Amino acid sequence: MSLETEYDPDNIFAKIIRGDMPCVKVLETDKILAFMDVFPQSEGHCLVIHKQSQAVNFLDVEPEALSELTAATQEVARAVHYGLNPDGIRIMQFSGARAGQTVFHLHIHVLPVYEGVVVAAHASGKPADAESLEPIAAKIRAALA
Ligand code: AMP
Repeated sequence: MSLETEYDPDNIFAKIIRGDMPCVKVLETDKILAFMDVFPQSEGHCLVIHKQSQAVNFLDVEPEALSELTAATQEVARAVHYGLNPDGIRIMQFSGARAGQTVFHLHIHVLPVYEGVVVAAHASGKPADAESLEPIAAKIRAALA
């Protein structure tokens, strides 16, 4: 799949934005949604997306939306830091299938890293259920306040 892929309005994250698919929310504004990654690579792995931009990846996003997305990502990363106390945080964005992108609505990963804990493989394994993600999301939400 090329980097110039057309935006598919039925991609998973578009469905989540419309409320057609569930997610465990961390932060929502009129422009931004942050939610728990359903295949978490570590405890607290979450994703930040822009609700209005139809950017597929980092290359085609409008500068204003990118700026809003980046600011929200910093807010979420700080909340992950204060809420979960990881030893480090990876901020990741994959553009294009060859780079590892699997959902074609621009998103930024906030991936906490803990000393001595192996980070799981990307987008693999068994999906986590909402019941297990919710208490982690609650700690992040509390740290946002
Ligand atoms: P990427 O591979 O960079 O496009 O990232 C897509 C991410 O979305 C992966 O880490 C997946 O685990 C995650 N993901 C896929 N489907 C869902 C979903 N329904 N809810 C939450 N996260 C998802």
